[in-house]
Amino acid sequence: LGSSLRGSLDKLQGKSRLDKDDVQEIVKEIQRSLLSADVDVSLVMDLSDSIKTRALEEDPPAGTSARDHVLKIVYEELVGLIGDSTEIPLEPQTIMLAGLQGSGKTTTAAKMAWWFSKKGLRPAVIQTDTFRPGAYDQAKQMCERAEVDFYGDPDADDPVQIAEEGLEATEDADVHIVDTAGRHALEADLIDEIEEIESVVQPDLNLLVLDAAIGQGAKEQAQEFDGSIGIGGVVITKLDGTAKGGGALTAVNETDSSIAFLGTGETVQDIERFEPNGFISRLLGMGDLKQLSERVERAMAETQAEDDDWDPEDIMKGSFTLKDMKKQMEAMNKMGPLDQVLDMIPGLGGGLKDQLPEDAMDVTQDRMRKFEVIMDSMTDAEMENPRSVGAQQVRRIARGSGTDEETVRELLQQHKMMERTLKQFQGMGDGDMQRMMKK
Ligand code: GDP
Ligand code: MG
Repeated sequence: LGSSLRGSLDKLQGKSRLDKDDVQEIVKEIQRSLLSADVDVSLVMDLSDSIKTRALEEDPPAGTSARDHVLKIVYEELVGLIGDSTEIPLEPQTIMLAGLQGSGKTTTAAKMAWWFSKKGLRPAVIQTDTFRPGAYDQAKQMCERAEVDFYGDPDADDPVQIAEEGLEATEDADVHIVDTAGRHALEADLIDEIEEIESVVQPDLNLLVLDAAIGQGAKEQAQEFDGSIGIGGVVITKLDGTAKGGGALTAVNETDSSIAFLGTGETVQDIERFEPNGFISRLLGMGDLKQLSERVERAMAETQAEDDDWDPEDIMKGSFTLKDMKKQMEAMNKMGPLDQVLDMIPGLGGGLKDQLPEDAMDVTQDRMRKFEVIMDSMTDAEMENPRSVGAQQVRRIARGSGTDEETVRELLQQHKMMERTLKQFQGMGDGDMQRMMKK
């Protein structure tokens, strides 16, 4: 499905602006990709609403394709939702893992212990699962492979007591990772049990472990665990499979937290710190979106820096002199023709622009170059007040610029036409204008 998103994005190749239909099609593909990646339906709707709005309102910077611009918006919206990875300080702490049976808690506990040991800390895993036969052996073996401290008691049946004893038995360790039992479903006794363990262990951080294939069930789980022990971060496991882990977005959204780790295999080394770019790119089945987003960002910054001396809003306020027109013509090289520049003024795009006379804003490159030469032969006073330029002056300017009187008159004519068009906008009234400028 990522490929059909790519397909509809590729159709935009070469386009510099998007119309409603383009945006509609893209948003539909993005919805499809996200839904098939198990992102919650209402989240998908919220996301696509803001993507749609931004794609229609924001214009791509000069030199950036509409396709790249939309991808940047999509990326930013998703990053905004997912956020950066959960902060994991490299210092002594206690972390407790929660989640349903089979989600990957025990595996993650050993993996995280391995991760901390590689960071130079001394971790210990405390196994409190008395529910599942074999939990003790599984955890012990994995911790041996990870070469980290381990505590568990295969004969005990009180998880709270195991937790208490485990903390004492592993007091030489500086990072304590407490593994808990899960159940098939969210039964009341599972929640009671984990709350009891929590009150004894007093973890610095509770992580919710979710299978990447969790899908729409993520919401209820996230709500339950967050409501009982408070979830400070999410771990997504089994990302080495086909599932894309969209349920993580739901969990993050519901718990107001972030993603801490990703599980990418069955061995203790198969753990990664979460990083939004890779995750989002994978979610959408797209390439490196961060890189692309940064490229668009740079283009934007450059466009803005170059145009510092010329603000399109200025011509909306006062009179439009030949000096303005000259600046406008210089800016055109960077920004595109005036009708597109007008599009950059918030609220001025679309309908109004369509009412312009066909070639009111059209100054071709060729004419522009000639106009520039002519302007260089004009006095400051003539530039400020082109209406005062009479026949005699036209003759002088033509001679001085090595052009002909006809072209000089064309320039004056063009100026008049642009001025009149802009007056039309100015005539909209101050209130309208103010409102539009503020948008
Ligand atoms: P728990 O019941 O929550 O403790 O889940 P476990 O840690 O026992 O994991 C359940 C199963 O999923 C085991 O067979 C694990 O080997 C497997 N598993 C856990 N994490 C991953 C992962 O990131 N990738 C793969 N492929 N398998 C995983
Ligand atoms: Mg387990």
